[in-house]
Amino acid sequence: MSTWHEYVQKTGKVPDWPYPVNYGKEHEVVTDVLIIGGGVAGLQAAINARKKGVKAAVAERGHAKRSGAGGAGVDHWHGAVTNPCSKVTPEMYTTACYDSMRGYTGGHVRYIITKEGWDTLQECEQMGIQIRDVNDEFKGADFRDDETRLMFAYDYKNRHIVRVWGYNIKPKLYEEARRVGVDIYNRMMVTSLLTEGGNQGGRVVGATGVDTHTGEFYVFRAKATVIATGGAGRLSLFAPEVTTSSSMSDMNSAGVGQAIGWNAGAEFVCMEASGHNRLSGFGYSPYSMGGTHNTYHGTAIVDADGKEVPWADVFGRELQSVQERFLPSEGQDFILGEGIGIGPYLRQYRSNDLSRDLVERISKGEFKLPLYADLSLLPESERRCIWGMMVGNEGKTRIPIYDTYTRAGFDPDKDLMQAPVMPPEGYAHSNFWGAGINTPPTARSLGGGGFLLDWNLKTNLEGLYAAAGSTIFGGGCHGESHTTGRYAGRHAADYAKTAPEPKTNRNQIEAEKARAYNATRQSKKGNGWKEINAAIARVMRDYCGRHKNELVLNLGLRLLNELKTTELASAYASNPHELGRLLECHALISLGEMVIKASLERKASNSILDFHRLDYPQMDPPEWNKLLPIRQEDNKARVRELPLDFHLKPPYAASYEENYQKYSGV
Ligand SMILES: Cc1cc2nc3c(=O)[nH]c(=O)nc-3n(C[C@H](O)[C@H](O)[C@H](O)COP(=O)(O)OP(=O)(O)OC[C@H]3O[C@@H](n4cnc5c(N)ncnc54)[C@H](O)[C@@H]3O)c2cc1C
Repeated sequence: MSTWHEYVQKTGKVPDWPYPVNYGKEHEVVTDVLIIGGGVAGLQAAINARKKGVKAAVAERGHAKRSGAGGAGVDHWHGAVTNPCSKVTPEMYTTACYDSMRGYTGGHVRYIITKEGWDTLQECEQMGIQIRDVNDEFKGADFRDDETRLMFAYDYKNRHIVRVWGYNIKPKLYEEARRVGVDIYNRMMVTSLLTEGGNQGGRVVGATGVDTHTGEFYVFRAKATVIATGGAGRLSLFAPEVTTSSSMSDMNSAGVGQAIGWNAGAEFVCMEASGHNRLSGFGYSPYSMGGTHNTYHGTAIVDADGKEVPWADVFGRELQSVQERFLPSEGQDFILGEGIGIGPYLRQYRSNDLSRDLVERISKGEFKLPLYADLSLLPESERRCIWGMMVGNEGKTRIPIYDTYTRAGFDPDKDLMQAPVMPPEGYAHSNFWGAGINTPPTARSLGGGGFLLDWNLKTNLEGLYAAAGSTIFGGGCHGESHTTGRYAGRHAADYAKTAPEPKTNRNQIEAEKARAYNATRQSKKGNGWKEINAAIARVMRDYCGRHKNELVLNLGLRLLNELKTTELASAYASNPHELGRLLECHALISLGEMVIKASLERKASNSILDFHRLDYPQMDPPEWNKLLPIRQEDNKARVRELPLDFHLKPPYAASYEENYQKYSGV
């Protein structure tokens, strides 16, 4: 029997659950450093903790060989500014990020990323990931340095974003983690952090988890813990199997790391920030159609009559050649690159793009739909690099797009790739993925907030560190996730070396067990995880959408609380998989509560955070130009104020480099 349909038709039933189920059976794992989440950041943290000579264990929701946003690959690595060809310094890159975000990004995290990104990439090379044009396929191309054979994206003059053949990056990291002796617990849904004495705000001494195959319970006892669970794509999305996992996010991206941190008393910032959920699966499949963004940067776009859409620089000047699309213009410092967790870009760092009045010109009939990507208009090396090297290595594109299209006969030398047909506003973003017009405006995604970390990438809780792109405040993209993982793992290991033995608290474990298995004991008439997930999304969309006021936010809090004590309390899970998804709903509610509470605290609208208080409509009043770290103490939200540049204020030194020298441990 080869297919699902054949099986169901032949047997008339769905398969039995294939694993023995032992709800509540307890295992204890004792380690030095526990890493929660085995994406690229988590595996780097584990590998680097092991390199320090301590024991390391990874608890991963999926299978660490391919899990996470980077599991399917990567084609360009940001933040490698110390590579031998780069004209950008760590200081320049950090300042560009920090100033573009008007201070609402962790400058210290960015600095760490740029100091160590290139070293991290070279370690990946040692693991078997190709980062150079070793076969001289692109010899002589503008984007290649013939001496080092490195190839660059976005900015061929300043050369800080490295093009990589990263289709195998996750399996290689996984192999390395295995090789150095990391213990990996796959299919492990981590549900809570354990704290000394069971107290909120106490030292973190491990975590609990449920095996989503067997339903068995795991107590991880660890001297240090690193959270690297990625983002929280599902918070405002109904039917996440379609709207989340089909696109730039992933079903396991449920904000569990943030939720368990919040419940343990960790401090967060900018959780009130949000953005239009434009990367969700509401749009068209990323990279599968004509567009010019990211992997396709530089691609020529023509209209239905073959008329080419002009490219323009950030000052609106039309570009005359393909080469100029990859060069900073006069008046620009350097091009920072897209997709690094930066919202608005200052003009001196922004990328060249299709003419910014494209929407208007389509509306007036100057360009006739559909639009098409015409790779044949590019120089041969650019064409082969985009269609082949880049599309062949970018996440989720190697097989579904490059391989499928090639087998179907697509030839970039002569064939066009159609862009989706959309209302003119759909072309405002040059990826043409269409999520901007297809996603309801109420569906919001988190906007760069996360764990507030110090220069060691440690949280306010003793023993708890965090890393990754979307988990932390100031994280970036793929390379940045590796780099923060590497740094946090190293620091967690150093702490673990001298930390006292961790003591878990039996009452806390029993309470967590009772919560974790509640859904297996309820009536089968109870709601399942999908209904709960939809209810959470409804509350978040309606009561914490783009426009907020005090009353509406408080109503949202009340509804989340009611949901917790009614439908969630009586929800049913029929197998360990459903139990895992339901436990994610517990986390989504905690996360939703944190986001609403953070939103209540910022009594001012803020353009960078895309934060709109109808009861405080004045945008960006200077007295609110600050961070508002929030945490729980005795289950009550506690808020303080922090200057945006806290990472350069006492107790820290006044310069990035001094702090890096003092804290990096290298
Ligand atoms: C299609 C696609 C293409 C991309 N292309 C690029 C690119 O070219 N360049 C670039 O810089 N960036 C790119 N990115 C972004 C980049 O891949 C991510 O920023 C990066 O992989 C994030 O890594 P991470 O380890 O921080 O988080 P994730 O990859 O999200 O990993 C988090 C891990 O935690 C696990 N987890 C979650 N909850 C739990 C729990 N409760 N218990 C245990 N484990 C849990 C998850 O299963 C996951 O494995 C791309 C992303 C996508 C989706």
